[in-house]
Amino acid sequence: MSETEALLDRAAELDKADELGKLREQFVLDEVVYLDGNSLGALPRAVPGRVADVVQREWGRLRIRSWTESGWWTAPERIGDRIAPLVGAAAGQIVVGDSTSVNVFKAVVGVVRLAGGGRDEILVDEATFPTDGYIAESAARMTGCTLRPLAPADMPGAVGPRTAAALVNHVDYRTGRLHDLPGITAAVHEAGALAVWDLCHSAGALPVGLDEHGVDLAVGCTYKFLNGGPGSPAYLYVAERHQAAFDSPLPGWNSHAEPFGMRPGYTPADGALRGRVGTPDILSMLALEESLTVWDGVSVAAVREKSLALTDFFLECVAAYVPAGSVSSITPEVHAERGSQVALRCDGAAIVMDELIARGVVGDFRAPDVLRFGFTPLYVGFAEVERAARVLGEVLRAER
Ligand SMILES: *Cc1c(COP(=O)(O)O)cnc(C)c1O
Repeated sequence: MSETEALLDRAAELDKADELGKLREQFVLDEVVYLDGNSLGALPRAVPGRVADVVQREWGRLRIRSWTESGWWTAPERIGDRIAPLVGAAAGQIVVGDSTSVNVFKAVVGVVRLAGGGRDEILVDEATFPTDGYIAESAARMTGCTLRPLAPADMPGAVGPRTAAALVNHVDYRTGRLHDLPGITAAVHEAGALAVWDLCHSAGALPVGLDEHGVDLAVGCTYKFLNGGPGSPAYLYVAERHQAAFDSPLPGWNSHAEPFGMRPGYTPADGALRGRVGTPDILSMLALEESLTVWDGVSVAAVREKSLALTDFFLECVAAYVPAGSVSSITPEVHAERGSQVALRCDGAAIVMDELIARGVVGDFRAPDVLRFGFTPLYVGFAEVERAARVLGEVLRAER
C-alpha cells in the first residue's frame, strides 16, 4: 500500500469515528477545503432564514416594537449568556457588542482603574495581534502608564508591585501557540495586578475556563471559531467580583442604570451590561445569536479533542507529502501549547497560498513568510486535512 493510500485509509477511519462530523451538515460548505475558519468562520445554514425574518418581520412589520417584543434591547446580555458556557463563564458576566478592538480599550482602561493608584505599568504580549498593542499603547498614555511588551511566558517573572495589568492573547494568531492562561493569571494576581485575556483564537476551539482560573476581564471576537459572520459583534467578560467597581471608559447611554430616564448625569447599571456603550448592531447580533445554535449540546472538551487530532494528522500528512526542508512548523508540537491552527514558514509563502487557493485549499498568508491553516472542529474533516497536505506537497514540488 502506498503512503497516500495509507493516509487516506487513516483519514476515513478518523472521519468514521468522529462524533462531531455530523455537525458539518449545519454549515454551508462545498468541495473547497476551508482551513480559514480562524479568520472567518463558515456560514451556519440556519442564519439566512433568521436574518430574513429579523429584517422582514421584526424590522419591516413590528418596527419600533421589536426593541421590546423581539428582545432586541436585551440581546447583548442574552447572547453573552449563550457564549458564556463556551468560555467557562457563569451567566451574567458577558456582554456582546462593538468590535474586539473597542472592547480591548474598555478592558485595559477598566483594569488600570480597578488596579488603583501606584500601579503605572501595563504588560502586553509582545507578539500580540496588532490592534491589541495599538490600543493598549493609547490606553497606557491616557492612564499615565508605561507599556511593557513581553513574551507571555516571561510575564510571571516580570510582573511586580508597579504592574496594573497584563494583556495577553490566549492563542497567538500567527504561530498558533496556546499560552498558559491559568499560570500567567495566577502569577499576575500574586503580584496584585489584573489579567485581561484576548480569546479571539481560542473561544470555540478549546476550553478557556475564565471563571475556574480567576480571569479578571476578557475580550474576544465572534466571527472566527464562533462563526458569527463578517464583523459580528465582539464580547466583553467582566468577572462578577469586579462588576460593581468596573468603571468603563466608554459610559454610553446603553449602560446607564436607567437608559430611558435620559438623565444628564451618568449612573452605571449593575452587572455585565455596564460594558455596553451605544445602540447595538441588531442585524449582526441576531445573526450571531442564530449561528450559536450549532453549539447546542456540543461539548467544548470534545471540540478540543478533535482539534488536536486534526492538527496532529495535518502535521503527519505534511511530513509525508511535503518535500523535506521546504516548510517548517512554528506551531508547538506539545498539545498543551497548541491552539487550533498550524502555521508553516515557507519561502514564497504568499505565492504558495495563492496556488493552494486556486487548487481548492483555503488557508491564509501572514507576512512575511507564514502559511496559516485553521482547523474548525465543527466542520473540518480528516479527509480534507489529508487533501490539504497532499495539495500543499504538489504545489511545493511544482514551485521548486
Ligand atoms: C481577530 C483578532 C482581533 C480582531 O479585532 P477586531 O476589532 O474584531 O477587528 C483582535 N485581537 C486578536 C487577538 C485577534 O485575533
